[in-house]
Amino acid sequence: MRTSLLLLGLAFTAPSVLLASDAELANRPFGLVIHGGAGVIERKSLTPEVEAQYRAALSQAREAGYAILEKGGTSLDAVVAAIQVMEDSPLFNAGKGAVFNADGFCDLDASIMDGRTQAAGAISGVRRIKNPITLARAVMEKSEHVMLAGEGAERFAQKIGFEFVPNEYFQTDFRRKQLEAAKLREAAAAKKKTSSLTTSDHFDRVARYGTVGCVALDRQGNLAAGTSTGGMTNKKFGRVGDAPIIGAGTYANNATCAVSATGWGEFFIRVGVARDIAAQMEYKGSSLADAANATIAKVGQLGGDGGVIAIDREGRVALPFNSVGMYRGFKLSTGAAAIEIFGQSK
Ligand code: ASP
Repeated sequence: MRTSLLLLGLAFTAPSVLLASDAELANRPFGLVIHGGAGVIERKSLTPEVEAQYRAALSQAREAGYAILEKGGTSLDAVVAAIQVMEDSPLFNAGKGAVFNADGFCDLDASIMDGRTQAAGAISGVRRIKNPITLARAVMEKSEHVMLAGEGAERFAQKIGFEFVPNEYFQTDFRRKQLEAAKLREAAAAKKKTSSLTTSDHFDRVARYGTVGCVALDRQGNLAAGTSTGGMTNKKFGRVGDAPIIGAGTYANNATCAVSATGWGEFFIRVGVARDIAAQMEYKGSSLADAANATIAKVGQLGGDGGVIAIDREGRVALPFNSVGMYRGFKLSTGAAAIEIFGQSK
């Protein structure tokens, strides 16, 4: 039988502790959690047909990632594979089907983090990259930077040979109608002189759900997290949400957990959601579930809504949210699996 040498962090100084047999590897927990966005998702707002479409798309994304983990692939590859499926589906606010900004374009944000090395990559405000999560990964692996924005990010993409699509590729009638409705609500609010900074209509709470994310633990014990979004309907002035911000929308560290967030990004940035969860585990010894719940409570106390998906190095998962619903699913090597949309997570 072959003996595998696992290169875990301090591998080179103490190789004797790093030898793991195939049997040990086979017994290590692995799995992944995905989300397709949090928001006002009620049973009555989804017809059975549309609900079935969401469930099918979530399953397809989950299986794409899980198949990689099962074969011994990396958590990073699993995260990218799962997210790509949802970016390609018009159902989600990421890639094709992303929400419109106030100027009538889809501006895409994405980020990814490798829990093994804590390398990270992010892009914001790109308009022509078919799968933004793949460009975030390229920033991580092929540039000396962590985050590239707008036109510069696209120039980098061009330089390393990415394929471009026109912005129309991302645009759907469904999202265009949401922009029109958001503009009408905004005009009505302005007439009533409602402060646009305090009204929840400002970012169109109803119409923004659909951000996607994935967190994964592979057989080697490595964690990874990724998030991809079109942001919020009717966003203005180059607005950037939490999704591409490492520590807010995405975070992964093998020492603690991997987290991907979805929700009202301004609040998630202010709380530093993803890193806050990991920090509680690191500094206080909190469990994943306690840390994730406490962080979502902080978002709620400020007036924000949304949720997170998280997985720790033992393969325990948490999916708390304070919004009405969150598209979500997971599959673990223990056999536990679920796809859920409404209500509170167990
Ligand atoms: N967090 C995303 C943003 O603020 C939106 C969402 O997850 O629904 O851009």
